[in-house]
Formats: sequence, structure tokens, C-alpha cells
Amino acid sequence: MQLFLKKALRMRLLLFAVFFSPGLSLFGQSKQVCFSFDDLPVVSYGITDTVYQKNLIDKLIVSLVSNKIPAIGFVNESKLFDRNGINRFQVELLNSWVDNGLDLGNHTYSHPDYNSASFEDFTRDILKGETITREILNSKGRSVRYFRHPFLHVGNTKARADSLNGFLFDHGYRVAPVTIDNEDYLFASAYEKSARKKDKKLMTKIGHDYVTYMEMKLKYFESKNSSIRKSRGLQKMNRRIRKRAMDY
Ligand SMILES: [Zn+2]
Repeated sequence: MQLFLKKALRMRLLLFAVFFSPGLSLFGQSKQVCFSFDDLPVVSYGITDTVYQKNLIDKLIVSLVSNKIPAIGFVNESKLFDRNGINRFQVELLNSWVDNGLDLGNHTYSHPDYNSASFEDFTRDILKGETITREILNSKGRSVRYFRHPFLHVGNTKARADSLNGFLFDHGYRVAPVTIDNEDYLFASAYEKSARKKDKKLMTKIGHDYVTYMEMKLKYFESKNSSIRKSRGLQKMNRRIRKRAMDY
């Protein structure tokens, strides 16, 4: 887990954790965590160097595959285009993701906020955002099944949430839930700043802090399942490390 999390730094990692009571587990497996990565093909904080981007995705894929983690990446297809049209390099990043047995889902075309976009505009953006992902998955005999809301905004009124859920259902989508949002973008931007300054020592420190923070976060959510008292201490430590990431 440690090694994997270090390598996952700089991607938008969200987790869906399912905690079973060991006594109730039917298959002897007491805990499961699903890994999902948003804003694919890549989040590179303005670094356009393709070698850097390829390396980033390759390392992430190798970490997932070697740790046997079945993960899904949610795509913003607007990132697959530049001023010359379709950007084959970016499409290839998605292909390598799928070629390695990982899944892809729809995260809208341009990452609009459903709290401010109209239902019509938002759903148009969903449909626009599924074309290339569908082609890639279909070419491997698979299909697009999951949707992730940008900013995790599902609708600011019940009526809007219901309409969107109806739309997604009618178009064959399942909403991918998130139970652990790890605020990795805070660590990522601190890491990026120190990378630009070539401050290797600070980069390593931020990497370690990120892993510690993630472990705390997982423990916190686990402890919610067993003891609220235990979780308060973890919550405090969580906050301390998170604050440190913002101060870097
Ligand atoms: Zn996103």
C-alpha cells in the first residue's frame, strides 16, 4: 500500500470503501476498497512534457497492476483535444490504461459544476464526454458503465438530483460513489511546487506526509465503523497533516 500510494501522488484519487463486520463476512474477506482516479487521461499541473506525462501514467498503471488493484479512471474527454483536433498521445494514455485491464468511466466532457450548470447543458456535456471512451472500451469488448459527478456535486436540490439520476439510469450509467476523498490535490500542488524548485528533500517529505495522511484517513473511516472515540484522535492528526500540506 505504501509504495502504491507514493506513486499515486499527483492523480486525483478517490476511494469507495466497503467495510464489513468480520462476523458477517460471507467470503472470508472483511474489507474492500475500490480505487478510482478522476480527471483522466492525466493531471499534470501544467507540465505539458509528454515524456513526463507518459512516465506518470505508466508508473501509476504498474503500481495498480502489480498490487492487483482493480481501478477505474474517470475521463474528461475535452482533454483529448487540442487546437489541431484530436490529440492521439492523450488517447493513447487511455488505451494503455484499458490494455492493462483497468476500467474507464465518464466524468463529463468539460468538468462542469452541476450546482451552476443547467440540466440541459450538463447532460449534453455527459453525452459529449462518452464518445472516445466508448470507442476505446468497445474495441476491447467492454462498455462504459460508470459515471462520476465533477466536484462530486450530485445536484443541489432533490428535484435536480432526481432528474440527473433518471437521465443517468436511462443512459445505462451507474453512479460511482465516493466514501473517502483524500484531498490529494493539496499534496499534489505542494509536490509540484517543490519539484519546480528541484527541492528533492521537500518532495520526499511531502510524499511521506501524503502516505501517512492516507493511512490516517483509511484508519479514520475504518474506526467510524467500530469506535467513534478512537476516530476523534485520528481526525485531529488528519487535520494536522492536511494543514501542513497547505503550508508547504
Ligand atoms: Zn474531476
